[in-house]
Amino acid sequence: MYNERLDKRAFDELRKIEAEVGVVPNANGSARFKIGNTEAIAAVYGPQEVKPKHFEKSDRGVIMCKYDMIPFSVSDRIKPGFDRRDMEISEVITNALSRAIFLEEFPKSMITINVYITQADAGTRCASLTAASMACADAGLPMRDLIASVAAGKIGDSIVLDLTKEEEDLHEEGATDVPIGFLPSKNEVVLLQLDGKVSREDLKKIIAIGKVGADKIYQIEKEALKRRFSNESKS
Ligand code: UDP
Repeated sequence: MYNERLDKRAFDELRKIEAEVGVVPNANGSARFKIGNTEAIAAVYGPQEVKPKHFEKSDRGVIMCKYDMIPFSVSDRIKPGFDRRDMEISEVITNALSRAIFLEEFPKSMITINVYITQADAGTRCASLTAASMACADAGLPMRDLIASVAAGKIGDSIVLDLTKEEEDLHEEGATDVPIGFLPSKNEVVLLQLDGKVSREDLKKIIAIGKVGADKIYQIEKEALKRRFSNESKS
């Protein structure tokens, strides 16, 4: 039974969100997205020449994404370097963004995306994807839509939105975590992973609650981008 959340949020309530665009002066586009105690900073460079050359595609651009949790992002200092988890997350971010960006407009070019997790309290791949998407928009890349991403899941008998690390670790209650990424205006799913066990019916409910959260995140992303461009036109 999980009748009350550890942090007292409603089951369909997101953690507190902060979003801003244009946070890395030397990048072509950048964004910071914070949800509760999870924070991602994304920087986008390009389109630029593909290096190494053998990754080049003659009919479209390629995305080179690197996700990195910085050592002080969690209380047990993590080992610096690129491990299997970093590799997996970099790949899922790349795949999702490939569905959002019109890569066919950049043949033989590369878009480099670096995402740094400065604080981690679960949901870092979702925060990374949201930040990276905002950073791509900030870089002026043509996109079908922004990506809004959040994890949802099930703890005990309750369907929950935006799990914390403490909630993910409720193993006795059988916590299940489902990171989801949407192109909200297209109603398309571009990221869907599953950590745990869940029935088909519950998975539908999890995706539905995830969409409610993603729609709120989408509005926050758009507001951050609008703020950036209205500040720019004033200066
Ligand atoms: N985590 C950690 N050390 C690590 C990797 C992960 O403490 O080396 C924590 C961190 O809070 C992360 C959470 O475990 O957000 C869940 O990690 P997971 O691999 O499920 O991905 P995420 O939920 O961050 O997308």
